[in-house]
Amino acid sequence: MILELEELSHRYGTELAVDDVSFGLESGELVALLGPSGCGKTTIVQAVAGHVRPTAGRVVLRGDDVTDTPPESRRVGIVFQQPTLYPHMTVSENVAYGLAPRDIDPDRRDELVDEYLDLVALHEQRTAYPAELSGGQQRRVELARALAPQPDVLVLDEPLSALDRTLREQLRDEIARIQRETGVTTLFVTHDQEEAMALADRLVVMNDGQVAGVGQPRTLYESPPTPFVASFLGRSNTLSATVVDQHPLTITLGTHEIRLDGTARDFSAGTPVTCHIRPKDLSLRSSAAPGTTPSLPCDVVHVADLGRRYDVTVQSVTGDELVVEQSGNPPATGETITVVMPQDSIQLFGPEQQ
Ligand code: ATP
Repeated sequence: MILELEELSHRYGTELAVDDVSFGLESGELVALLGPSGCGKTTIVQAVAGHVRPTAGRVVLRGDDVTDTPPESRRVGIVFQQPTLYPHMTVSENVAYGLAPRDIDPDRRDELVDEYLDLVALHEQRTAYPAELSGGQQRRVELARALAPQPDVLVLDEPLSALDRTLREQLRDEIARIQRETGVTTLFVTHDQEEAMALADRLVVMNDGQVAGVGQPRTLYESPPTPFVASFLGRSNTLSATVVDQHPLTITLGTHEIRLDGTARDFSAGTPVTCHIRPKDLSLRSSAAPGTTPSLPCDVVHVADLGRRYDVTVQSVTGDELVVEQSGNPPATGETITVVMPQDSIQLFGPEQQ
């Protein structure tokens, strides 16, 4: 592991901002630290950078405990949420500034500045001042400045959140390319699940100061360990149900019984459970699905035309509202219809996981 956080906790006064967080980054890995505003992401970044001394736990870089090491002695490159370029310095002077703490001879320093400005495709702007650059170009200068000292870990703290959507997507792809080319171990902090999933080898999902799930993006999306991860990684319909039979697992949604043969989880009869199912996994039929595929009678409440698809909101016999993504002809509002729920796309969570 290049970076390890071991049982990290941090309090601001009585507020527990980070609560016993442990995870690590392998060499060359891009890990996204993902979670809603206020879940403790920035506090973790500050602890990695050395600007916050955690209340408990350790930060380990390349096997060395750096919890008490000052920021300038850690090989951590950071790009913050807000731009931090010096306005009175040119692009190349700003990048060279990142190398200042290192004892490097001037020729080598100039070489490194050129190399990293090439990497971020800003060589032609080397004599420009930050005010003459676009927001995206400024971010790329900051990337070059953070990378030029060849840090052990690059930390990107919501680097795209101040940019508009198109620029954000362009720069996201640019960051992916730069990370691939340099192979730098990277912690990418964001509250945007799409951004995290598009970039990361692994996700660390946080909620309320704690780690809610760790894993590869697709695995976490398809088999979320908690309802929070299920909802945070994409739209998810939630249905309350009760287990009526353990073998084969049968649940009841209102008066409607559904058999879930493929579910690995074991729940005893009487357990209240929550079913999560993604809108893209549901489909609509005019009559009940054949065989054992679970289906629920519903009334169409609303149809939203989003151009490339329809979002059909239905109310099931249980009273729950569900959204179904549909690409073909949508049903009419008020129509009674059957929602088909493929078994393997239903995630069941017990009361201890709420
Ligand atoms: P955001 O995305 O909004 O920046 P975050 O996930 O980065 O949020 P943190 O900034 O680490 O979360 O904050 C975690 C919790 O700690 C929040 O409840 C926040 O209000 C609190 N907090 C953060 N910094 C301080 C501080 N300096 N003093 C007191 N409380 C703080």
